[in-house]
Amino acid sequence: MPNPSSPQPTGEIRDAACPFCGLVCDDLVIDTSGARLKVTGNGCPLAVTEFGRKPGTAKGAVRVGGRPASLEEAVAAAARLIGASKQPLIAGLGTDLAGVRAASQLAERAGAALDHMNAAGFVRNLLVLQDSGWITTTLSEVRNHADLLIVAGTDIETRMPRFFERCVANRETLFGDRRQCEVVYVGSGPTGEPPVTGTSIIRCDPTRMHEGFAVLRAFMAGRPIGAESAAGVPIATWKALAERCRAARYGVIAWMAADLDFPQADMTVQVICELVRDLNRHTRFAGLPLGGSDGDVTADAVILWQTGFGLRTSLASGQPDHDAYHYSAERMLSRGEADFLLWVSSFSTTRTPPATETPTVVLGRDGMAFEREPDVFITVGTPGVDHAGHLFRTDRVVALPLRPLRRSPHPSVSEVLAAIEAALRETA
Ligand code: SF4
Repeated sequence: MPNPSSPQPTGEIRDAACPFCGLVCDDLVIDTSGARLKVTGNGCPLAVTEFGRKPGTAKGAVRVGGRPASLEEAVAAAARLIGASKQPLIAGLGTDLAGVRAASQLAERAGAALDHMNAAGFVRNLLVLQDSGWITTTLSEVRNHADLLIVAGTDIETRMPRFFERCVANRETLFGDRRQCEVVYVGSGPTGEPPVTGTSIIRCDPTRMHEGFAVLRAFMAGRPIGAESAAGVPIATWKALAERCRAARYGVIAWMAADLDFPQADMTVQVICELVRDLNRHTRFAGLPLGGSDGDVTADAVILWQTGFGLRTSLASGQPDHDAYHYSAERMLSRGEADFLLWVSSFSTTRTPPATETPTVVLGRDGMAFEREPDVFITVGTPGVDHAGHLFRTDRVVALPLRPLRRSPHPSVSEVLAAIEAALRETA
């Protein structure tokens, strides 16, 4: 399936897009002349590690029952397993736009449910969006307009190492070259050095920061505050932040739902979104929900346009049926509601399937290790490294093209899924 006759890049590639987090930075410089790809400009530690992984070989890249097999044998075995299943599940979905589209088509043919490995965080946002809507912004707006950024319950940098460099620390904008953006952390602070000078931190337990945001709402509404502290922080500190918010020309509150991993975290997201709405009565403010790792934003977007719903949609009845709770892959597997799992992870070697005795097919990146060998394993190429593709950025406003950077012996996820679907069609 890989096309060895396709022209391969050589030497230094400029303006390469990076698929390893939701920023999808498109300015990397990559040296392709050595045995391994080398990021020589505009990278970050995550990009250096992921681009620099040893290229795979065909040896042991495809296995059936733990034994080396041909790709055709593996595709046939996968088609047999999914064809024999009463309730298949296609999950992980760490792939690009074409890969998710192929997964969606296979799900339609097989009557499978679709879930993404990052869906738990997504659902925290989705519940709020469904319940009350939100006002959000884009990375370009942050870069060009924001003069106050509140970072809620995350450090951002761990998952998006260049966020501050690209969106906050820039002095030049479309409208001038004297831009400054103040950063205030609420909850935990930055992991290392503060990302920009003048950063302030309101340290509190992230599971209680909604109390502080509720106090900000009260200040905005002019209601009296009887308490002396909220989330363990003096009311005077919250009052100072309320005044800073009111004085902002364009304020933004950013959060990463993946980092708000505690019970009822959706309530925290809800309070943030309601605060943003309140602040717009006084000045311009917007939310910035951050994500996009392992193609989660792309998966949600593609399934949305293919089925009318986002992640956690089942096609078992022949009609799309969305349920953010019932179609959780972990829940379906732990309760025995799925009798087959097809797991996809083409960006990460560590995002392996949940522990399960259910028959499993894995389309994974070279270098994956398993506690239990899947019934079928097919090494797939990584979009933006081994083959071309497209990925949506975290703010969903643009799908960036990814370029192939080396010759790869591995097929893409979309090629393998299309082959499984074709084999399934032939046996129907
Ligand atoms: S910040 Fe993200 S997209 Fe940008 S280079 Fe690093 S890993 Fe890649």
